[in-house]
Amino acid sequence: MKKKYIRTLKLFSKCSFLILFIVIATNYIKDNSTYFMPQEYKTIKKIVDKIALKNNLGYEEIPFSIGSGAYMEYEAEKLGICKKDDCYYFKNLNPYKKHKDFKEVNLNELSKQSFLFNSIEAYAWSGVVWISKSTFKTYGDKTNYLSCLIGHELAHIIYNDHLEQSIKLSKKIKNHQNLKDDKNKVLNNEELKKEEDEEIDLYEKVLSRESETKADQNGARMIINAGYPNDTCLKSLTFLSKKNYTDAHTEINSTHPGHLERYKSLKTFIDSYDKEVKRLKPYKWSWKYSRNQNTLTFSPHNQVHD
Ligand SMILES: [Zn+2]
Repeated sequence: MKKKYIRTLKLFSKCSFLILFIVIATNYIKDNSTYFMPQEYKTIKKIVDKIALKNNLGYEEIPFSIGSGAYMEYEAEKLGICKKDDCYYFKNLNPYKKHKDFKEVNLNELSKQSFLFNSIEAYAWSGVVWISKSTFKTYGDKTNYLSCLIGHELAHIIYNDHLEQSIKLSKKIKNHQNLKDDKNKVLNNEELKKEEDEEIDLYEKVLSRESETKADQNGARMIINAGYPNDTCLKSLTFLSKKNYTDAHTEINSTHPGHLERYKSLKTFIDSYDKEVKRLKPYKWSWKYSRNQNTLTFSPHNQVHD
């Protein structure tokens, strides 16, 4: 009787170990396998795979992350759960996770509303491509157009737009310092500081518009190389302007050119662009998904650089 009891106990402990192992393995696969990631991430992977087949996207990892969107940020501020200019947390909130109420506001409900009312929104920051979940709903089955948006953000990262902008800005600030002494004779310090800040701010906007135009062109080049029809990104730009109610004219204090200027610059580029036919050096990559981190990372394999 005792022997039987011990045998049953051993069997039970073996079984529970097996069950525990299966539970841990299942959870690990669910949280890290690209097979079980949300549909939006699958769409990103499909598009970037197509782009990377015919373009070199560099040798550094590029994480993609999907967030709740600016609508959530504005509403959070209006509801008083964060202070002005301090609400990015809500914009970036993971839309795939259940959140606890915060200061009596139902964040899950707010996230759903943001998905509904937010439109196309993406940026590249710190080497990460961030896209709002609502962007995928807005593009729907027009994944060709979405490819241009992703190409644009990838271009910001690959071509180091931010660094180039910073260098130009620092030159401008230096020039200002040199002119300061002459102006100082007629303006007091406060007036001078204000004038200087305004001028530098406007110059920053000029640089930003320049880098947007450049990213449009570099992005479109990648998309054309990848085999999409030449006019895909022009159509995508019109789609974006319609959905986001972009102004047709360029505002001097805007970070992006108005629709007409943006469209014209991109058309001029595409009309003169001959698809690159040179052979690509072997380029390989893999993907890492993390449900916990809410990222899908494009990971190029180490190889001999050019
Ligand atoms: Zn941009």
